[in-house]
Order: sequence, then structure tokens, then C-alpha cells
Amino acid sequence: MTGSRPLDVTSTEHEAAASETAILTIDLDALLANYRRLCELAAPAECAAVVKADAYGLGLAQAAPALARAGCKTFFVATLGEAKALRKLAPHATIYVLAGLMPGTAELFRERDLRPVLNSAEEIKEWASFSASKGETLPCAVHIDSGMNRLGLSAEEVDAVANARDLWAALKLSLVMSHLACADEPRHPKSEAQRKAFDRLRARLPKALASLANSAGILLGPNYAYDLVRPGIALYGGKPHRQGANPFQPVVHLKGRILQVRNVAAGETVGYGATRTLKAPSRVAIVSVGYADGLFRSLSTKDGEEGLVVYTGSHAAPILGRVSMDLITVDVTHVPEKVSRRGQWVELIGPNVSAQEFAHHAGTIDYEVLTNLGRRAYRRYIGG
Ligand SMILES: *Cc1c(COP(=O)(O)O)cnc(C)c1O
Repeated sequence: MTGSRPLDVTSTEHEAAASETAILTIDLDALLANYRRLCELAAPAECAAVVKADAYGLGLAQAAPALARAGCKTFFVATLGEAKALRKLAPHATIYVLAGLMPGTAELFRERDLRPVLNSAEEIKEWASFSASKGETLPCAVHIDSGMNRLGLSAEEVDAVANARDLWAALKLSLVMSHLACADEPRHPKSEAQRKAFDRLRARLPKALASLANSAGILLGPNYAYDLVRPGIALYGGKPHRQGANPFQPVVHLKGRILQVRNVAAGETVGYGATRTLKAPSRVAIVSVGYADGLFRSLSTKDGEEGLVVYTGSHAAPILGRVSMDLITVDVTHVPEKVSRRGQWVELIGPNVSAQEFAHHAGTIDYEVLTNLGRRAYRRYIGG
């Protein structure tokens, strides 16, 4: 995989307590390398960091301070609760809350110097009147819907508020943003249509910094960068575009431990539901991770299906049969016994098993893989 650095497996094994059965390593150096790469790609635009959902499951408490130390000044979270946690970790950062302004929460934003991303004319009015009541012009972003039909002001709503001078005078519009629906498909015509709609609509609003690109949008080129970019998944080693190589380094490494290895005769079945019948005599390793650790149950295989290929040392071994809560079964028939015996580690996500490949076998995307890593594995942060 491009840009991957092999981790020192032996030191991982050495450092983990002997009792650990799963290790989740988060490589903060790789996170920061990805951040610097995104800064270069987006320059001269500012590169913010999207750290919603506990930094995509990797740990806000570790990721946010590391990014702030690396020079990141602007952060986006989804919820006010996430913003409160982030404020403690990054006292001087600019923090935007994508969920916007829920009724009755304006004072919570003000107290902690947080900025709502206002999603409707109603929210804009509420923020403006709250600001006026405090005798302050409080900062905020406005989200324009440029064609995704999810959050943000419609074209009609932009028209309705565009000329409301009193409204705009009462607050400080620090950012106008929109979000791309199809940026992961580089040739999709929707991105360009959204970019044009964004330009048309933001021209009607007071002058402010502009932001359109998520990770995939940054890779669409400089036309999409505007003043500020908002990458999430690329920071965490995800693959923004469907085609081509991943220009970002893997950040997450998940390993599980072999608890037992058994010889199973041809014709026998493996695991719950007896979904997998062995065609030949096999060596089957029972590995100590399951759906409670983010190994989606949809990684299960039945007869005729190819399982996700995981690694013991440098040896490939496919998942067999059903994934259960705490266990998976792996075919190690062709793996030398010295790397496939009780106590050995199996790589489930890492340099050999990308989060995208993992996601593909589970019928999902790397975003969902990362945000579902679970809390049971022993977490280890390196670098940063
Ligand atoms: C989550 C999110 C992002 C980050 O998207 P990635 O695809 O992870 O880079 C950017 N902008 C908005 C509005 C988002 O909700």
C-alpha cells in the first residue's frame, strides 16, 4: 500500500500486557503526516480538521491536541457535546458545530466560544436576535445547500434572507460553506454543478470566507479549495476517491490474538450456523476479535464466498464462516505453524489489510469501519 510504514510488531507484542487479546494502535505521526499532506494539497487555503464522532473513532483526546500542535487552528465537530469536549482540549481553536443551533442552546455556544454552522433562515434569525440581546456580534458559519438536499439553506431561503441587512448586521458571518455529495467519484458532474451553485448563492450573502471541500473535494483540485478545506477521513488514513491509490498513510492498526488452532477434517463445518463446510483437511485459527471489536458480522462468509484476507506475519489467511461477538475463525492451513500458533498476533487492519479492503468485504465504507472500532481492544497511541 502506498505510503505505509510497517510498525514494529515485536515491540507491540512486548509492550502489550501478556493478557491482551486485541490491540488497536493509532499512529499519530501518520495522522500528522496526512494533515501536512492535506495542507500542501489545499494551499494557499487553510486546512481545518473534522474531528466529529471522537475523531472518526480514533480518539478526540489524542487526535485534537496533536493536530493543534501541528498548527491546525480550525476544527469541525458534529454536535455541541463534541464541541464542549474539544474546547477543553484545544482552548484557542476555532470550533464549528455542524449540527447548527438547536433551540435554547445559544448561550452554551457563547459561553465556550463555539460557532454554530447555521442551517436555516430560522437558525440565522435566532442567532442574530441572541447576539443582539447580548449586545455582541457573535461569529457563526452559514451552510448553503448546493444540491445534496441534506443540511443547509435552500436557494429560496438564501433569497429570503439575502437582503435582510439587520439580520447580517447583528452577527458576524465568519464562514459560508456547502458540502459535496459525489466528490468520491472524480468524474461525477454533480461536483461541478454544486460548485457553481455554491458560487451563485454565496455571492448573494455578505462577504465571508468560503469552504466547500471535504477530503475527496480537496483531491478534485484547487477550484474546490476556496479559503478553507474540511478534511476528515483522509486525516485518519481513509481513501477519499474510489479509484486509484490512496495518497494517505494508514493510521489505524488492529490486531487480534490466536487463542487456539485446531485441525478440522474435510466435510466438517466451522462456526455458528455451520455456514462453511471445509473441502479439505484444514488448520483453523480461532482469533480473539469479533463484532464487538468492529469486525462487522457482514464479514462472515458462507460456502462459495471469499473471506477478507487477514495476515499472520507476512502470511495471508482468509476469514472463514461466521463472525461472532468475540471471535473469528481464520484458515491458516497454508501458514507456517510458527507464525500461526496460540498467542500469535493476526493483523486485521494495517499495512497489509487496508480499511478500504476491510470495508469492501463488509459491504460498507472505511468511515463506518473506523467509527465502529469498539472499546474493548487495548488502545495504544504512538508518535505525535
Ligand atoms: C464529515 C464532514 C466533512 C468531512 O468529510 P470527509 O469525507 O471525512 O473528509 C466535511 N464537511 C462536512 C459538512 C461533514 O459533515
